[in-house]
Amino acid sequence: MSTLLHALQQRRQTLTQMTSQHWPRHPLHVYIDHDALDRLPALLMQSHVKQAYLIMSEVPIMREGYPLKPYIHQLALQAKIRIEPIYVNSFASSDQAQRVATRLRCSSAVISIGSGQITDLCKQVCHLYEQETGHALYFVAIPTANSVTSYASHLTSIWHRDVKVSMPARSPDVILADLRTLHSAPPDLSRSGLGDLAAKFVALADWYLAASLGLGDPFEPRALDWLKPIDQLYDEWPPQGGPLDSFYQTHVLCEALLVAGLTMSVLHQSTPLSGFEHVATHALDIWRRQRKGESGSHGIHVAAFSAMASHMWEALFAGPTPNLAAPTRSALQEIVISQFTALDPTNRLGHQFWQVYSEKLQNWEQMSTHIAQRTATWDESLKPHLATLLKPSRWIESSLQRAGLPLRFTAINPPISPAEYLWAMGSAPFIRKRFTLGDLQISNPWMKASS
Ligand SMILES: [Zn+2]
Repeated sequence: MSTLLHALQQRRQTLTQMTSQHWPRHPLHVYIDHDALDRLPALLMQSHVKQAYLIMSEVPIMREGYPLKPYIHQLALQAKIRIEPIYVNSFASSDQAQRVATRLRCSSAVISIGSGQITDLCKQVCHLYEQETGHALYFVAIPTANSVTSYASHLTSIWHRDVKVSMPARSPDVILADLRTLHSAPPDLSRSGLGDLAAKFVALADWYLAASLGLGDPFEPRALDWLKPIDQLYDEWPPQGGPLDSFYQTHVLCEALLVAGLTMSVLHQSTPLSGFEHVATHALDIWRRQRKGESGSHGIHVAAFSAMASHMWEALFAGPTPNLAAPTRSALQEIVISQFTALDPTNRLGHQFWQVYSEKLQNWEQMSTHIAQRTATWDESLKPHLATLLKPSRWIESSLQRAGLPLRFTAINPPISPAEYLWAMGSAPFIRKRFTLGDLQISNPWMKASS
Protein backbone atom coordinates (compact mmCIF):
# COMPACT_ATOMS: atom_id res chain seq x y z
CA MET A 1 0.00 0.00 0.00
CA SER A 2 1.29 3.49 -0.77
CA THR A 3 2.24 5.84 2.04
CA LEU A 4 -0.43 8.26 0.89
CA LEU A 5 -3.28 5.77 1.13
CA HIS A 6 -1.95 4.53 4.44
CA ALA A 7 -1.71 8.08 5.86
CA LEU A 8 -5.25 8.84 4.77
CA GLN A 9 -6.71 5.62 6.12
CA GLN A 10 -5.04 6.08 9.48
CA ARG A 11 -6.45 9.57 9.84
CA ARG A 12 -9.88 8.52 8.62
CA GLN A 13 -10.00 5.78 11.26
CA THR A 14 -8.83 8.07 14.07
CA LEU A 15 -11.27 10.79 13.10
CA THR A 16 -14.12 8.30 12.73
CA GLN A 17 -13.52 7.15 16.29
CA MET A 18 -13.41 10.73 17.51
CA THR A 19 -16.61 11.64 15.75
CA SER A 20 -18.33 8.56 17.20
CA GLN A 21 -17.28 9.67 20.68
CA HIS A 22 -18.74 13.11 20.05
CA TRP A 23 -22.02 11.66 18.83
CA PRO A 24 -22.46 8.36 20.70
CA ARG A 25 -26.07 8.13 19.50
CA HIS A 26 -24.82 7.81 15.95
CA PRO A 27 -21.42 6.12 15.81
CA LEU A 28 -20.18 6.26 12.24
CA HIS A 29 -19.25 3.17 10.23
CA VAL A 30 -17.44 3.59 6.93
CA TYR A 31 -17.07 0.78 4.42
CA ILE A 32 -14.86 1.41 1.42
CA ASP A 33 -14.40 -1.40 -1.06
CA HIS A 34 -15.17 -2.47 -4.58
CA ASP A 35 -18.50 -4.00 -3.58
CA ALA A 36 -19.43 -2.04 -0.47
CA LEU A 37 -23.07 -2.07 -1.62
CA ASP A 38 -23.30 -5.80 -0.98
CA ARG A 39 -23.42 -5.00 2.73
CA LEU A 40 -26.72 -3.17 2.44
CA PRO A 41 -29.16 -6.09 3.06
CA ALA A 42 -27.30 -7.27 6.17
CA LEU A 43 -27.02 -3.74 7.55
CA LEU A 44 -30.75 -3.17 7.14
CA MET A 45 -31.57 -6.48 8.82
CA GLN A 46 -29.24 -5.80 11.74
CA SER A 47 -30.74 -2.35 12.26
CA HIS A 48 -34.25 -3.84 12.81
CA VAL A 49 -35.96 -1.15 10.76
CA LYS A 50 -39.43 -1.86 9.39
CA GLN A 51 -38.97 0.08 6.18
CA ALA A 52 -36.39 1.96 4.19
CA TYR A 53 -36.75 5.10 2.12
CA LEU A 54 -34.51 5.41 -0.91
CA ILE A 55 -34.00 9.14 -1.32
CA MET A 56 -32.68 10.09 -4.73
CA SER A 57 -33.20 12.27 -7.77
CA GLU A 58 -34.72 10.93 -10.99
CA VAL A 59 -31.42 11.30 -12.83
CA PRO A 60 -30.14 7.85 -13.85
CA ILE A 61 -26.73 6.87 -12.45
CA MET A 62 -24.68 4.01 -13.92
CA ARG A 63 -22.46 1.56 -12.10
CA GLU A 64 -20.11 -0.16 -14.52
CA GLY A 65 -22.67 0.18 -17.29
CA TYR A 66 -25.73 -0.92 -15.28
CA PRO A 67 -28.35 1.36 -13.70
CA LEU A 68 -27.37 1.86 -10.06
CA LYS A 69 -30.65 2.86 -8.44
CA PRO A 70 -32.67 -0.25 -9.46
CA TYR A 71 -29.69 -2.34 -8.31
CA ILE A 72 -29.75 -0.73 -4.85
CA HIS A 73 -33.54 -1.19 -4.73
CA GLN A 74 -33.08 -4.92 -5.39
CA LEU A 75 -30.41 -5.18 -2.71
CA ALA A 76 -32.62 -3.39 -0.16
CA LEU A 77 -35.52 -5.76 -0.92
CA GLN A 78 -33.32 -8.67 0.19
CA ALA A 79 -33.70 -7.32 3.74
CA LYS A 80 -37.42 -8.30 3.50
CA ILE A 81 -38.71 -4.91 4.58
CA ARG A 82 -40.90 -2.33 2.85
CA ILE A 83 -38.90 -0.16 0.46
CA GLU A 84 -40.24 3.20 -0.64
CA PRO A 85 -38.45 5.37 -3.16
CA ILE A 86 -38.75 9.12 -2.59
CA TYR A 87 -37.74 11.23 -5.57
CA VAL A 88 -36.39 14.67 -4.81
CA ASN A 89 -34.80 17.41 -6.87
CA SER A 90 -31.03 17.73 -6.61
CA PHE A 91 -31.27 20.94 -4.69
CA ALA A 92 -30.56 20.86 -0.98
CA SER A 93 -32.98 23.40 0.48
CA SER A 94 -34.42 23.63 3.96
CA ASP A 95 -37.96 23.69 2.46
CA GLN A 96 -37.43 20.44 0.62
CA ALA A 97 -35.84 18.84 3.69
CA GLN A 98 -38.91 19.79 5.72
CA ARG A 99 -41.28 18.34 3.11
CA VAL A 100 -39.39 15.04 2.97
CA ALA A 101 -39.08 14.78 6.77
CA THR A 102 -42.85 14.98 7.20
CA ARG A 103 -43.33 11.95 4.91
CA LEU A 104 -41.20 9.61 7.02
CA ARG A 105 -42.32 7.15 9.68
CA CYS A 106 -40.38 5.95 12.69
CA SER A 107 -38.35 2.71 12.82
CA SER A 108 -37.15 3.49 9.33
CA ALA A 109 -33.94 3.76 7.40
CA VAL A 110 -33.07 6.62 5.11
CA ILE A 111 -30.80 5.58 2.27
CA SER A 112 -29.42 8.54 0.37
CA ILE A 113 -28.27 7.75 -3.16
CA GLY A 114 -26.44 10.64 -4.76
CA SER A 115 -23.64 13.09 -4.41
CA GLY A 116 -23.33 16.33 -2.42
CA GLN A 117 -26.77 17.91 -2.72
CA ILE A 118 -28.72 14.69 -2.08
CA THR A 119 -26.52 13.72 0.88
CA ASP A 120 -26.71 17.22 2.37
CA LEU A 121 -30.48 17.16 1.94
CA CYS A 122 -30.75 13.77 3.71
CA LYS A 123 -28.50 14.91 6.55
CA GLN A 124 -30.93 17.75 7.13
CA VAL A 125 -33.97 15.46 6.75
CA CYS A 126 -32.64 13.06 9.41
CA HIS A 127 -31.71 15.95 11.68
CA LEU A 128 -35.15 17.59 11.41
CA TYR A 129 -36.92 14.28 11.93
CA GLU A 130 -34.95 13.57 15.08
CA GLN A 131 -35.51 17.07 16.44
CA GLU A 132 -39.22 16.99 15.79
CA THR A 133 -40.04 13.44 16.90
CA GLY A 134 -37.22 12.53 19.28
CA HIS A 135 -36.73 9.33 17.23
CA ALA A 136 -33.58 8.65 15.27
CA LEU A 137 -33.68 7.29 11.74
CA TYR A 138 -31.05 4.82 10.57
CA PHE A 139 -29.16 6.75 7.92
CA VAL A 140 -27.11 5.01 5.24
CA ALA A 141 -25.33 7.29 2.77
CA ILE A 142 -24.36 5.91 -0.60
CA PRO A 143 -22.20 8.54 -2.28
CA THR A 144 -22.30 8.24 -6.04
CA ALA A 145 -19.33 10.48 -6.85
CA ASN A 146 -16.13 11.68 -5.21
CA SER A 147 -17.37 15.21 -5.65
CA VAL A 148 -17.53 16.94 -2.24
CA THR A 149 -15.90 16.89 1.19
CA SER A 150 -19.13 16.81 3.13
CA TYR A 151 -20.23 13.13 3.11
CA ALA A 152 -18.95 12.37 6.60
CA SER A 153 -19.52 15.76 8.16
CA HIS A 154 -22.10 16.69 10.80
CA LEU A 155 -22.65 19.95 8.99
CA THR A 156 -24.84 20.43 5.98
CA SER A 157 -24.58 23.04 3.29
CA ILE A 158 -28.14 23.95 2.47
CA TRP A 159 -30.17 26.72 0.86
CA HIS A 160 -32.20 28.57 3.40
CA ARG A 161 -34.38 31.19 1.67
CA ASP A 162 -31.95 33.03 -0.65
CA VAL A 163 -28.69 31.97 0.96
CA LYS A 164 -26.67 28.80 1.15
CA VAL A 165 -25.75 28.27 4.79
CA SER A 166 -23.74 25.77 6.74
CA MET A 167 -25.93 24.25 9.44
CA PRO A 168 -25.48 21.58 12.09
CA ALA A 169 -27.06 18.37 10.88
CA ARG A 170 -26.60 14.65 11.29
CA SER A 171 -23.90 12.60 9.74
CA PRO A 172 -24.83 9.16 8.42
CA ASP A 173 -24.70 6.05 10.61
CA VAL A 174 -23.09 4.24 7.71
CA ILE A 175 -21.27 5.38 4.60
CA LEU A 176 -21.11 2.77 1.87
CA ALA A 177 -18.32 4.00 -0.37
CA ASP A 178 -18.70 1.58 -3.24
CA LEU A 179 -15.61 1.94 -5.40
CA ARG A 180 -17.31 0.51 -8.51
CA THR A 181 -19.95 3.24 -8.23
CA LEU A 182 -17.50 6.05 -7.47
CA HIS A 183 -15.20 4.88 -10.24
CA SER A 184 -18.08 5.02 -12.74
CA ALA A 185 -18.88 8.67 -11.95
CA PRO A 186 -18.21 11.28 -14.65
CA PRO A 187 -14.58 12.55 -14.37
CA ASP A 188 -15.75 16.14 -13.84
CA LEU A 189 -17.42 15.10 -10.59
CA SER A 190 -14.18 13.59 -9.27
CA ARG A 191 -12.33 16.70 -10.38
CA SER A 192 -14.84 18.70 -8.38
CA GLY A 193 -14.02 16.69 -5.25
CA LEU A 194 -10.35 17.25 -5.81
CA GLY A 195 -11.04 20.97 -6.35
CA ASP A 196 -13.02 21.21 -3.09
CA LEU A 197 -9.90 19.95 -1.26
CA ALA A 198 -7.83 22.81 -2.73
CA ALA A 199 -9.48 25.06 -0.15
CA LYS A 200 -7.03 23.57 2.33
CA PHE A 201 -4.19 25.59 0.76
CA VAL A 202 -5.76 28.94 1.68
CA ALA A 203 -8.63 28.45 4.15
CA LEU A 204 -6.40 27.53 7.09
CA ALA A 205 -4.92 31.02 6.96
CA ASP A 206 -8.39 32.59 6.95
CA TRP A 207 -9.25 30.52 9.99
CA TYR A 208 -6.05 31.43 11.82
CA LEU A 209 -6.38 35.13 11.05
CA ALA A 210 -10.01 35.26 12.19
CA ALA A 211 -9.17 33.36 15.38
CA SER A 212 -6.19 35.53 16.22
CA LEU A 213 -8.17 38.74 15.71
CA GLY A 214 -10.91 37.40 17.99
CA LEU A 215 -13.34 37.22 15.08
CA GLY A 216 -13.78 33.49 14.73
CA ASP A 217 -13.68 30.10 16.38
CA PRO A 218 -10.39 29.05 18.02
CA PHE A 219 -7.74 27.60 15.73
CA GLU A 220 -7.06 23.90 16.28
CA PRO A 221 -3.46 22.97 15.37
CA ARG A 222 -4.29 19.23 15.21
CA ALA A 223 -6.17 19.98 11.99
CA LEU A 224 -2.80 20.63 10.32
CA ASP A 225 -1.78 17.03 10.82
CA TRP A 226 -5.16 15.61 9.89
CA LEU A 227 -5.21 17.48 6.60
CA LYS A 228 -1.53 17.12 5.77
CA PRO A 229 -1.97 14.21 3.31
CA ILE A 230 -3.95 16.54 1.04
CA ASP A 231 -0.63 18.24 0.18
CA GLN A 232 0.82 14.89 -0.80
CA LEU A 233 -2.35 14.02 -2.72
CA TYR A 234 -1.90 17.12 -4.88
CA ASP A 235 1.85 16.58 -5.16
CA GLU A 236 1.27 13.07 -6.45
CA TRP A 237 -1.85 13.63 -8.53
CA PRO A 238 -2.57 11.48 -10.41
CA PRO A 239 -1.45 9.32 -7.50
CA GLN A 240 1.11 6.57 -7.86
CA GLY A 241 -0.14 3.04 -7.57
CA GLY A 242 -1.89 2.54 -10.86
CA PRO A 243 -2.85 4.03 -14.20
CA LEU A 244 -4.71 7.31 -14.45
CA ASP A 245 -8.19 5.83 -14.26
CA SER A 246 -7.45 3.17 -11.69
CA PHE A 247 -9.56 2.18 -8.73
CA TYR A 248 -6.60 3.20 -6.63
CA GLN A 249 -7.06 6.84 -7.63
CA THR A 250 -10.78 6.59 -6.79
CA HIS A 251 -9.95 5.05 -3.44
CA VAL A 252 -7.37 7.70 -2.50
CA LEU A 253 -9.69 10.56 -3.40
CA CYS A 254 -12.55 8.96 -1.47
CA GLU A 255 -10.40 8.64 1.66
CA ALA A 256 -9.19 12.25 1.35
CA LEU A 257 -12.73 13.59 1.05
CA LEU A 258 -13.82 11.60 4.09
CA VAL A 259 -10.84 12.85 6.12
CA ALA A 260 -11.76 16.42 5.16
CA GLY A 261 -15.40 15.95 6.14
CA LEU A 262 -14.50 14.25 9.40
CA THR A 263 -12.07 17.03 10.30
CA MET A 264 -14.90 19.56 9.97
CA SER A 265 -17.19 17.27 11.92
CA VAL A 266 -14.81 16.71 14.82
CA LEU A 267 -14.15 20.45 15.09
CA HIS A 268 -17.86 21.34 14.70
CA GLN A 269 -16.97 23.89 12.07
CA SER A 270 -16.24 24.07 8.38
CA THR A 271 -13.46 26.68 8.76
CA PRO A 272 -10.52 24.29 8.09
CA LEU A 273 -11.75 23.92 4.51
CA SER A 274 -13.96 26.92 4.02
CA GLY A 275 -12.49 30.39 3.88
CA PHE A 276 -12.77 33.24 1.43
CA GLU A 277 -12.65 30.84 -1.56
CA HIS A 278 -15.89 29.24 -0.36
CA VAL A 279 -17.62 32.48 0.52
CA ALA A 280 -16.83 33.73 -3.00
CA THR A 281 -18.34 30.59 -4.55
CA HIS A 282 -21.44 31.01 -2.40
CA ALA A 283 -21.76 34.60 -3.63
CA LEU A 284 -21.56 33.30 -7.19
CA ASP A 285 -24.25 30.73 -6.34
CA ILE A 286 -26.53 33.54 -5.11
CA TRP A 287 -26.01 35.49 -8.34
CA ARG A 288 -26.75 32.47 -10.50
CA ARG A 289 -29.76 31.41 -8.47
CA GLN A 290 -31.30 34.88 -8.69
CA ARG A 291 -30.57 34.99 -12.43
CA LYS A 292 -31.85 31.42 -12.88
CA GLY A 293 -28.50 30.40 -14.33
CA GLU A 294 -26.90 26.97 -14.18
CA SER A 295 -25.02 26.81 -10.88
CA GLY A 296 -21.96 24.91 -12.15
CA SER A 297 -19.64 22.66 -10.22
CA HIS A 298 -18.89 23.62 -6.61
CA GLY A 299 -15.43 22.08 -6.31
CA ILE A 300 -14.25 23.41 -9.65
CA HIS A 301 -15.26 26.90 -8.53
CA VAL A 302 -13.53 26.36 -5.17
CA ALA A 303 -10.27 25.43 -6.91
CA ALA A 304 -10.23 28.56 -9.09
CA PHE A 305 -11.15 30.83 -6.19
CA SER A 306 -8.48 29.16 -4.02
CA ALA A 307 -5.82 30.07 -6.59
CA MET A 308 -7.22 33.61 -6.64
CA ALA A 309 -7.18 33.83 -2.84
CA SER A 310 -3.54 32.75 -2.74
CA HIS A 311 -2.69 35.71 -5.00
CA MET A 312 -4.60 38.00 -2.68
CA TRP A 313 -2.66 36.72 0.32
CA GLU A 314 0.59 37.30 -1.52
CA ALA A 315 -0.49 40.83 -2.42
CA LEU A 316 -1.40 41.46 1.20
CA PHE A 317 2.01 40.21 2.35
CA ALA A 318 3.85 42.28 -0.25
CA GLY A 319 2.14 45.52 0.78
CA PRO A 320 2.56 47.69 3.88
CA THR A 321 1.24 46.55 7.28
CA PRO A 322 -2.44 46.01 6.51
CA ASN A 323 -5.31 47.77 8.15
CA LEU A 324 -7.01 44.93 10.01
CA ALA A 325 -9.55 47.15 11.76
CA ALA A 326 -13.22 47.31 10.83
CA PRO A 327 -13.90 49.68 7.93
CA THR A 328 -15.61 52.94 8.86
CA ARG A 329 -19.36 52.67 8.65
CA SER A 330 -20.08 55.82 6.71
CA ALA A 331 -21.61 54.92 3.34
CA LEU A 332 -21.12 51.18 3.97
CA GLN A 333 -24.83 50.49 4.24
CA GLU A 334 -25.42 52.15 0.87
CA ILE A 335 -22.54 50.24 -0.67
CA VAL A 336 -23.84 46.90 0.58
CA ILE A 337 -27.42 47.53 -0.49
CA SER A 338 -26.45 48.84 -3.91
CA GLN A 339 -24.29 45.74 -4.49
CA PHE A 340 -27.47 43.63 -4.54
CA THR A 341 -29.70 46.04 -6.49
CA ALA A 342 -28.60 44.46 -9.77
CA LEU A 343 -30.08 41.16 -8.58
CA ASP A 344 -33.08 42.48 -6.74
CA PRO A 345 -34.26 46.00 -7.54
CA THR A 346 -36.66 45.91 -4.56
CA ASN A 347 -33.53 45.90 -2.31
CA ARG A 348 -35.03 43.20 -0.11
CA LEU A 349 -31.87 41.11 -0.63
CA GLY A 350 -29.67 44.15 -0.02
CA HIS A 351 -31.32 44.85 3.33
CA GLN A 352 -31.15 41.17 4.28
CA PHE A 353 -27.40 41.08 3.64
CA TRP A 354 -26.82 44.41 5.32
CA GLN A 355 -28.22 42.79 8.47
CA VAL A 356 -25.72 39.94 8.11
CA TYR A 357 -22.82 42.26 7.42
CA SER A 358 -23.65 44.79 10.13
CA GLU A 359 -23.55 42.00 12.73
CA LYS A 360 -20.07 41.10 11.53
CA LEU A 361 -19.07 44.78 11.61
CA GLN A 362 -20.33 45.18 15.14
CA ASN A 363 -18.28 42.24 16.30
CA TRP A 364 -15.28 43.56 14.43
CA GLU A 365 -15.63 47.04 15.94
CA GLN A 366 -15.87 45.60 19.46
CA MET A 367 -12.52 43.87 19.01
CA SER A 368 -10.72 47.05 17.93
CA THR A 369 -8.25 47.23 20.85
CA HIS A 370 -7.27 43.59 20.51
CA ILE A 371 -6.96 43.95 16.74
CA ALA A 372 -4.68 46.96 17.11
CA GLN A 373 -2.42 44.89 19.37
CA ARG A 374 -2.35 42.01 16.90
CA THR A 375 -1.67 44.37 14.00
CA ALA A 376 1.42 45.60 15.84
CA THR A 377 2.77 42.02 15.65
CA TRP A 378 2.11 41.73 11.90
CA ASP A 379 5.71 41.68 10.72
CA GLU A 380 7.35 39.61 13.41
CA SER A 381 4.68 37.01 14.13
CA LEU A 382 1.26 37.24 12.50
CA LYS A 383 2.39 37.41 8.87
CA PRO A 384 5.11 34.73 9.18
CA HIS A 385 2.68 32.36 10.88
CA LEU A 386 -0.01 32.92 8.26
CA ALA A 387 2.58 32.22 5.58
CA THR A 388 3.23 28.76 7.04
CA LEU A 389 -0.45 27.90 6.55
CA LEU A 390 -0.53 28.86 2.88
CA LYS A 391 0.78 27.26 -0.27
CA PRO A 392 2.43 29.57 -2.82
CA SER A 393 0.16 30.59 -5.70
CA ARG A 394 2.62 29.12 -8.20
CA TRP A 395 2.46 25.73 -6.48
CA ILE A 396 -1.35 25.85 -6.31
CA GLU A 397 -1.65 26.80 -9.96
CA SER A 398 0.68 24.12 -11.25
CA SER A 399 -1.01 21.50 -9.04
CA LEU A 400 -4.46 22.47 -10.26
CA GLN A 401 -3.29 22.42 -13.86
CA ARG A 402 -1.83 18.95 -13.43
CA ALA A 403 -5.14 17.80 -12.00
CA GLY A 404 -7.03 19.18 -15.00
CA LEU A 405 -8.74 21.88 -12.94
CA PRO A 406 -9.29 25.14 -14.85
CA LEU A 407 -7.58 28.23 -13.47
CA ARG A 408 -9.17 30.83 -15.71
CA PHE A 409 -12.74 31.61 -14.71
CA THR A 410 -13.82 31.86 -18.33
CA ALA A 411 -12.47 28.32 -18.97
CA ILE A 412 -14.84 26.81 -16.40
CA ASN A 413 -17.99 25.10 -17.69
CA PRO A 414 -20.32 27.04 -17.69
CA PRO A 415 -17.88 29.98 -17.88
CA ILE A 416 -17.78 32.49 -15.04
CA SER A 417 -18.06 35.82 -16.85
CA PRO A 418 -15.98 38.83 -15.75
CA ALA A 419 -19.21 40.46 -14.49
CA GLU A 420 -20.08 37.40 -12.37
CA TYR A 421 -16.54 37.15 -11.06
CA LEU A 422 -16.35 40.81 -10.06
CA TRP A 423 -19.74 40.68 -8.42
CA ALA A 424 -18.88 37.53 -6.45
CA MET A 425 -15.57 38.97 -5.25
CA GLY A 426 -17.18 42.27 -4.27
CA SER A 427 -20.22 40.74 -2.56
CA ALA A 428 -18.50 37.89 -0.74
CA PRO A 429 -17.70 39.89 2.41
CA PHE A 430 -21.37 40.83 2.80
CA ILE A 431 -23.10 37.46 2.54
CA ARG A 432 -21.63 35.61 5.52
CA LYS A 433 -20.88 36.43 9.12
CA ARG A 434 -17.64 34.50 8.89
CA PHE A 435 -14.60 36.80 8.76
CA THR A 436 -12.19 35.98 5.93
CA LEU A 437 -9.44 37.52 3.86
CA GLY A 438 -12.10 39.00 1.58
CA ASP A 439 -13.21 41.33 4.36
CA LEU A 440 -9.86 43.08 4.21
CA GLN A 441 -10.35 44.14 0.57
CA ILE A 442 -12.42 47.14 1.66
CA SER A 443 -9.69 48.79 3.73
CA ASN A 444 -6.68 47.43 1.83
CA PRO A 445 -7.48 48.10 -1.80
CA TRP A 446 -4.05 47.06 -3.09
CA MET A 447 -5.09 43.43 -2.56
CA LYS A 448 -7.86 43.90 -5.10
CA ALA A 449 -5.62 45.73 -7.54
CA SER A 450 -3.08 42.93 -7.55
CA SER A 451 -5.68 40.21 -7.93
ZN1 LIG B 1 -16.81 22.90 -0.47
